Amino acid sequence: MNEIILKSELLNKAFDRKDISRNDANRIYEEAEKNPDELYRAAQAMRNQNKGKIVTYSRKVFFNMINLCRDTCSYCTYKAEPGDSGVSMMSREDITSLAKIGRVHGCTEALFVTGERPEQKYPEARQWLAANGFGSTVEYLAHAGEIALESGLFPHTNAGNLTKSEMNQLKKTNVSLGLMLENASERMSESKMPHENAPSKNPRARIRVLENAGDLSIPVTTGLLVGIGETPTEMIDSIFTIKSLHMKYGNIQEVILQNFQPKPRTRMQDMPRPEERYFMNLVSLTRLIMPEMNIQIPPNLSPESYPSFLQTGINDWGGISPITPDYVNPEFSWPSIETVRQRCRDSGFVLRARFPVYPEYFHMVDPALRSRIKERADSLGLVDLERSP
Ligand code: SF4
Repeated sequence: MNEIILKSELLNKAFDRKDISRNDANRIYEEAEKNPDELYRAAQAMRNQNKGKIVTYSRKVFFNMINLCRDTCSYCTYKAEPGDSGVSMMSREDITSLAKIGRVHGCTEALFVTGERPEQKYPEARQWLAANGFGSTVEYLAHAGEIALESGLFPHTNAGNLTKSEMNQLKKTNVSLGLMLENASERMSESKMPHENAPSKNPRARIRVLENAGDLSIPVTTGLLVGIGETPTEMIDSIFTIKSLHMKYGNIQEVILQNFQPKPRTRMQDMPRPEERYFMNLVSLTRLIMPEMNIQIPPNLSPESYPSFLQTGINDWGGISPITPDYVNPEFSWPSIETVRQRCRDSGFVLRARFPVYPEYFHMVDPALRSRIKERADSLGLVDLERSP
């Protein structure tokens, strides 16, 4: 039964674990535009009921593997062009030495990031991979995963749209994979829209990859980019798209809600960032629509206000690195883990380090990797600092 008293019939319905429809969600959103307090109360109560007072993060090393990319998203500053000073192609030696530094700093996650199939567009990428003995970026990522594991880190790879057999290959070294849906609306791929020149961001293509990951029982982190020209209804539809995938395959371990930040020298540099209330309302709605989901907001993209996001019902801050920048958003440095811990404490929460796979999804991980994780986990499945210093 409902343990909090809410004035809204719809919020009570959500709270009483009656599935809310898209229509309900749109009406809750409209009510929250006038006054979001009840929505936040409901989202917080649902988070507390499902996740308790623990908020997690993953202590990570960001490996900027190859930042050439076949696609062009109108907001991206991660992608480089051959000859740019910021081109990154990490050698085996670079990976090994950074992984060792990561372990010294108590990291558990190796986040491997690349642009979308760089070798398809750039001869420089093809030649570099061939010179290092690899036929594709994915082959190289599988090898990088082995290096990370040897160093005591657990890989999580974000490499765009992978085929089923590529994901199967990465499953041997990765405890989870990442692929942002960004938005389920095809409108985002139309002329003058952010994904006009990024075929891999077409939602049909992304959903196919997420379905394939589901078929393979790979724990996947996905998420939405908020404020890139979508309507609230498109955003709500996108949340329901993720929910449907999870209901069918049960492998979506986390949903990231990322607030768009305009970057200089991009096509979207003059687009305003989304209003904070719009963003917070959508995050809270996500909690209502998927009460048991792990919901993450990156703290670095809202350096002033991120602690207030705890009131929207989130339970995770995602990867935070004590040693490497956020190469996707280098303008936004991560807050120190101690600062995040203190901010959580101020709001009545305990910050705990997790692995790049949530405990509920350990059973999906390759058995050899699973036993390595369990050696370093506590009884909750979170990082045991004594066993994983
Ligand atoms: S956001 Fe990803 S897919 Fe889009 S251009 Fe940047 S690296 Fe490529």
